[in-house]
Amino acid sequence: MVPRPTIALLACCLGPGVAHAAALSPADQALVDGLALPLHVATLKNGLRVVVQPDHRAPVLTVHLQVPFGSSRDTGQPGWPDRPGLAHLVEHLLYAGSPRAPDGAYDALLSAVGGENNAWTEPYAMAVHATVPVEAMGLLLALEADRMAGLDADSVTAKIDSERRVVERERAIDLDTPGGLDSAARRALLYPRGQGQHWPVLGTPAAVGQVQVGDILAFQGAAFAPGQSVLVLVGDVDPVAAMDAVADSLGAVPPRPVALPQVLAEPPTLPISGLYLDDVAGTTLYAIYPLPPDAAPERPAADLLADWFGLQRQGCLGRMLQRGRLDRLTAWTEPEPGGGRLVIELDAPRGPARRLVAKLDQAVADLVDHAPDQAELERVRARWRAWAARVQEDPVDRAEILARCVLEDGDAACFPGHVAAHLAVDGPQLSAAARDWLSPQRRALLVVTAPKHAGRGLPDSVLVDLPEQR
Ligand SMILES: [Zn+2]
Repeated sequence: MVPRPTIALLACCLGPGVAHAAALSPADQALVDGLALPLHVATLKNGLRVVVQPDHRAPVLTVHLQVPFGSSRDTGQPGWPDRPGLAHLVEHLLYAGSPRAPDGAYDALLSAVGGENNAWTEPYAMAVHATVPVEAMGLLLALEADRMAGLDADSVTAKIDSERRVVERERAIDLDTPGGLDSAARRALLYPRGQGQHWPVLGTPAAVGQVQVGDILAFQGAAFAPGQSVLVLVGDVDPVAAMDAVADSLGAVPPRPVALPQVLAEPPTLPISGLYLDDVAGTTLYAIYPLPPDAAPERPAADLLADWFGLQRQGCLGRMLQRGRLDRLTAWTEPEPGGGRLVIELDAPRGPARRLVAKLDQAVADLVDHAPDQAELERVRARWRAWAARVQEDPVDRAEILARCVLEDGDAACFPGHVAAHLAVDGPQLSAAARDWLSPQRRALLVVTAPKHAGRGLPDSVLVDLPEQR
C-alpha cells in the first residue's frame, strides 16, 4: 500500500487515441491489434461501472477498483477538512475493516486463499486491487461490496494510530532518499497553499496526526460511492457469469448520491523560477512544462518529448553526460485531468544552474531545427512497444489501464488507439511539439542545491520552503 513513485515514469497518460491516419509498420499494427482484447462493459443500477475482460492463460482473477478522487482533495476544498495526507491515510484504512469483515479480516481472508492485494493514491485517483485464484471470485467481490458500503468505525478507530505510524515510515523513507523532497518542492513552487495540488500525497505529520475517524469515514463514503467507482475484472472468468456475480454483490450496494465534483487546481502562473536548498552534493535543475490537454491532436507528440529527452545520449546534453558534466538526464510526464506536466531533470556535479538552462534551451532549439531521424524515433518507440507489451502480458497492469480508460477517456477500449497514436508520431511532429510546448515563456524552473551553493540558483527565484515536512 504505497503510492507508486514511478507512475510518472510510465508516461501512461491516456489520451483518446487520435485517429492513427499515419501508417504504422506491419509489426506495430500487429502489436496494436493484439491489444484490442474482447471487453464486456456495463453500468449497474447503483451507478457502478464494470468492465470484464476474460483472460484464460491462468486460473486467476484480478479485480481493480478505482475512483477519480485522491490527494488533491486533501486541502483547500469547500466543505472538506484541510488535512494533507487524508486520502492516502484513507487508502491504508480501507483495509482496517468493514461491517461484515471487521478487524482487518480483508487481508486475512485473501491470504488464506493465496491472494495478494495492494492499493495506491495519486492526486486525482485512488485504487485498490487484488489477484486471487478464480474460485475465490465470490469471496473477493463480497469483501469489496462490504467495504464499498462503508467502513466499520470501530475497526478504523482501532487501526488509525498504527496506520499513522506506517505512513510516517513511508515519509521517513522519502526523507532519507537524496532528492526525496524534490517533488514536494516542485508542488510547493507550482501551486500555492489552499490548492489541492500544493501538498505531497503523503501529507504532513501534523496533519496526518489530526485526522479523525469521522474524516476517514466521510472521505471513503463520498469517494467510493458506487456512482463514482469503476470496477474491472481481468481473468479466467466467463464474462456473463462474472457480470452477474458483480451485480449480485457490488451491484447491491445502495447508491449514495454524493456526486463529488472533481476539483482541479488552477494552472500555475508561468514562467516562474524557484530555489530549494537541501543537503545535496551537486545541482539539480527541473524544467517543468505544461502538457496539452489529453484530447489535443498534438498530445501524443508532446508525450514523446519526455521519452526523447530521457533517452538523449547525443546532442549537447548527451555530450555533457559523456564528459561527466551531467550525472543524470531524465524526463517524464505527470498526466492530470486538463493536461498535466512534462518534467526534464538535469543533475550536475557542479556549476551554476544558468548553464544547465542554457544547455537545455540549446537542446530544445536543436530538436526544433532538426527533426529526429529514424534511429532516434525507433528508440523512443521501443519504449512504447515495451510498455504496451508489458500491459498486454500483465493482468494487474491491464486492469488499471482499463479503469483509467473508463475514468479519463470515457471508453474502456481506449488503449490500442492510445498506443497507436504514440507509435505514429513522426520526426516533424516531435519537432513541432518541442517548438510549441517546450517554451521558456511557459515553464517553471526549480533548482535544488546545498545551502552553501545557494548562489548557483537562477535570478529572481522564489525560495521554496517546506518546514512542515521536516
Ligand atoms: Zn502508503
